[in-house]
Amino acid sequence: MSTESQLAKLGLFDARVPRYTSYPTAPQFSTNVGPAQFESWVRAIEPGSRISLYLHVPFCRRLCWFCACRTQGTSSDSPVLAYVEALKAELALFQRLLPEGVTLSRLHWGGGTPTMMPAAAMRDLAQAILAVTPMGEDAEFSVEIDPNEIDTERLDALIGAGMNRASIGVQDFDPEIQTIIGRDQTYEVTRNAVEALRAHGVSSLNADILYGLPNQSTARLSDSVQKLLSLSPDR
Ligand code: SF4
Repeated sequence: MSTESQLAKLGLFDARVPRYTSYPTAPQFSTNVGPAQFESWVRAIEPGSRISLYLHVPFCRRLCWFCACRTQGTSSDSPVLAYVEALKAELALFQRLLPEGVTLSRLHWGGGTPTMMPAAAMRDLAQAILAVTPMGEDAEFSVEIDPNEIDTERLDALIGAGMNRASIGVQDFDPEIQTIIGRDQTYEVTRNAVEALRAHGVSSLNADILYGLPNQSTARLSDSVQKLLSLSPDR
């Protein structure tokens, strides 16, 4: 029996589950969760405990056609900068509710494309976060890196802010599949980003690769996986 029909037999393709791209997942979003509920959740955090914090940057320079993440395309930095100000205002509200002595065990910037933020905005945002909750011992600060949207200045800003893990967006290395999904990103661009991250001391790297894209075949997918492995991601 082929692998695919085995998976079909197990009901994989019949499953109706919430998308993984948000937590709580979309069915849990409701108007019942208002300021009072949110306040009670934050106040219930144990003083002196360690928490994880996720910041979403819902902007991309170009939209990949397969993507269902909460994001929107923009060629201008102004909505991104306005959003950073909104995040800082939100952090100030959070700080008023947060019990004493809470530190971060994990900080993650995702999107969208967090590396779309200009370097100064990255520094500004990191400073605002760490003023509310400092990084705890051995804390992990990871950022989703779009290899098409990173340069030395932004990399320096992220390293200066404490980033110690990078998640690289790839999806597929095949140029034809990249054209179909609207995401041109040569292997060399990805490899350069990986080398720049390592040169800046970021040794913990992972990458996204997608199965199920149009025109993918076993051979093409295998080629993408081999190319990815040649970059030696650690997880
Ligand atoms: S860059 Fe990432 S978040 Fe933006 S559209 Fe493409 S896959 Fe989605």
